[in-house]
Amino acid sequence: MTDGVSVGAGRFAPTPTGRLHLGNARTALLAWLWARRHGLRTVLRMEDLDPLAVPPGCVARIYADLDWLGLTYDEEPRWGGPLGPYQQSERAALYDGALESLNAMGLLYACACSRKEVLQSTQAPHAHDEGPIYPGTCRPVSGPRSRLELLDLPRIGGRRPALRIDVARALERLGIQTVRFEDQVRGSVELDVSKDLGDFVVRRADGLAAYQVACAFDDDAMSCTQVLRGSDLVLSAVRQVLLLSLWGRPLPSYAHVGLVLGRDGERLSKRDDALALETLRTSGLAATDVRRRLTGGLGLPDTGDLAALVAGFEVGPNLAPDVRLEG
Ligand SMILES: [Zn+2]
Repeated sequence: MTDGVSVGAGRFAPTPTGRLHLGNARTALLAWLWARRHGLRTVLRMEDLDPLAVPPGCVARIYADLDWLGLTYDEEPRWGGPLGPYQQSERAALYDGALESLNAMGLLYACACSRKEVLQSTQAPHAHDEGPIYPGTCRPVSGPRSRLELLDLPRIGGRRPALRIDVARALERLGIQTVRFEDQVRGSVELDVSKDLGDFVVRRADGLAAYQVACAFDDDAMSCTQVLRGSDLVLSAVRQVLLLSLWGRPLPSYAHVGLVLGRDGERLSKRDDALALETLRTSGLAATDVRRRLTGGLGLPDTGDLAALVAGFEVGPNLAPDVRLEG
């Protein structure tokens, strides 16, 4: 998949549904430093999987924020690169192919359960990031399973179905009971996916690939050998490791770093205007000062100078704790 690109990459992959805040900026900066430290390519991927969810002007503001912060990318939507396109809205056909390969393994089934129905039918605890654990209501009983016509799935009870992956069957195919990976920040991560996460959605009812599929596929297809992002995505990583394993692809080096917390101790959200990068940028603050704040407490040179930060940067357990950046 990566012919002609011999060196790996680090990436930043924002979902353009709101303004970048200091938490996003910290992840972007750390990922960029890690890649540069190891002489890797830097990739900016716009995760605009659902173009209807992208507010007008949002993508342009993300570019302006990153440019201001001094993070330049070798490959990104504005100027492309050998493994593009770099915006997910233009990659639907690639995701369809990736889904078809799971389908060919007999691992997919249609499910039109609403979120409310899933909630009512399960006693299981929530998987936190994607709502309640799906109890397998629509999972076909065991036995051989035929390939689905993905382009022409019949409606169920008048509703267009989503596609779920039969996780138990996937694990069986791989000959494993749990999904395991080494995280450069958190150490060994291991989860019984069928119990702890359940059969997750791989294609939404509207026909769009699910985040897990698009993200895992793109990290591999764009030869991203480093995936540094917030610790809120550890459970996503488990699903993505499962998918990459099924596709027979190598895993990137994962690093899930602590989140940035606001004054109230809660993680930042797109509603925290005071800590939006755009607010800081337009208030006349220097980018150097923001970079200093974002790397504070990591034992790096306190100058905010990018070259100095790159030279001193290491990824390890010191990036695990959540951090508070006072506004
Ligand atoms: Zn269902």
